Amino acid sequence: MPSPAEPANLMEALVALAKRRGFIYPSSEIYGGLNGFFDYGPLGAELKRNIRDCWWRDMVQRRDDIVGLESSIIMHPKVWEASGHVAGFTDPLVDCKVSKQRYRADQLFWSPVVVDSKTVGYVSALESEKTAEDLQAAAELFKRKKAITGTLAPVTPRDFTEAKESEIPLIPSPATGEPGSLTAPRAFNMMFQTNVGAMTDASSVAYLRPETAQGMFVDFKNVTDTTRVKLPFGIAQIGKSFRNEITPRNYIFRSREFEQMEMEYFIHEDADWAKCHEEWITWCENWLKSIGLPASHLSRYAHPKEKLAFYSKGTVDIMFKYPFGVQELWGIAARGNYDLTQHATASGKPQDLFDEASKKKFVPHVIEPAVGVDRILLAVLCAGYDVEDVKDEKGNVEQRTVLRFSPRIAPVKVAVLPLLKNKEPLTNRARALHARLQRRYAVQYDDGGAIGKRYRRQDEAGTPWCVTIDFDTIEKPGDTFTLRERDSMQQRRITETELFALLEEQVY
Ligand code: ATP
Repeated sequence: MPSPAEPANLMEALVALAKRRGFIYPSSEIYGGLNGFFDYGPLGAELKRNIRDCWWRDMVQRRDDIVGLESSIIMHPKVWEASGHVAGFTDPLVDCKVSKQRYRADQLFWSPVVVDSKTVGYVSALESEKTAEDLQAAAELFKRKKAITGTLAPVTPRDFTEAKESEIPLIPSPATGEPGSLTAPRAFNMMFQTNVGAMTDASSVAYLRPETAQGMFVDFKNVTDTTRVKLPFGIAQIGKSFRNEITPRNYIFRSREFEQMEMEYFIHEDADWAKCHEEWITWCENWLKSIGLPASHLSRYAHPKEKLAFYSKGTVDIMFKYPFGVQELWGIAARGNYDLTQHATASGKPQDLFDEASKKKFVPHVIEPAVGVDRILLAVLCAGYDVEDVKDEKGNVEQRTVLRFSPRIAPVKVAVLPLLKNKEPLTNRARALHARLQRRYAVQYDDGGAIGKRYRRQDEAGTPWCVTIDFDTIEKPGDTFTLRERDSMQQRRITETELFALLEEQVY
């Protein structure tokens, strides 16, 4: 039997654990859920909050050159015209007229079936880790079903945006397996529309923001006029974004409502943007490691020059090895001064600064690290998940499931466990410790069941430490507890002062 930690089963096991332990639920589940939307349960809400808080502390509070912002989710519609989102924030959409399924053309792959150098038909498959294998298997099946003899050539996977007009009617729909029902790709704008005010006509149309970044550009002058920031400086924001993704998938990786943490770092037009870009990429990698993501799962992807937007100087994505493939986690883009220039033109309000040295006005350039909180949360769940064989007190082998979260982001930092539920000296001491810890940290008091069971419960929640208040605590001098460490399962005695010192050092 494959172990649950193997990639094919890892997502299934994680989704089940996340539901069972209250990390993540499907949104509106009692009504059948809503595709692309999720709720975070008690442990998930803490985990997400910790990711946000760590980022905010490191990105904003612990730096002298970055300030925070919270802009509104619905902004003036002209913002999205100037930014290019109204015209260009689109994905290529393909409809299957028979099944009514919709696909992103760049995620729908196809190939001709070539036998003895002759095209005898077409096959299609949705993008996955093994798209080419799926197409090859489909081609073999096609040949067998049609009883075609001869040598089958290897498939040549291409996405649907590359299909010629004459090929489109010949490519089978992945839903029905039959050709003739797929439409040509058309641009689908991913912004959610709403109306502001009582009128629902064209004049009241507004959008839920598809990114938080525009808030920083639109408030650029407000920030420079009301604070003492000097170049280079950044404006950072954490908040919800909304994209009507055609195919939300891979759990919380691609959803329709998600949260972003973005920062616009403004630099002089003559500054060495490439150096600054590189510094931010490194900063982001180090930050991900600081919250416990292993370096072995991180890589970089530099967007090829020919695929960049005309204003872009360069974009590097930090990729994470998810169980469903290596995917973008954090994009770090050098955007020139495109955004501020666009808003200056559209609003008629200059977005420039005065350069004391040259006595000239200029529009600053920007480096933009943009990351999704939900994608980080999924990464820490995937990287932290482990199932291992351990021996219980009697020497019997059992399996334990553990989430090896960094103490920085673990939803619960310490579980306080009185050895027995009904021995007042033990529970009194445990309650007192719990109350003191609770003033600063998210902690849990657990007195239900055998101590081994309680440890397992905390392992699954990713709690780095358990402290057990036992008879030695109350009977022997020193007022020490048993500290049990989640990953090593080692136990040692510790005083309250030492426990607080440990937390101070590890939870920052
Ligand atoms: P993708 O290519 O995966 O659609 P993107 O390049 O469009 O992502 P950006 O516009 O650069 O993404 O957004 C910045 C970050 O926001 C991404 O790196 C990702 O972490 C997060 N993000 C973007 N879209 C989603 C989504 N639908 N669900 C969850 N997170 C998202």
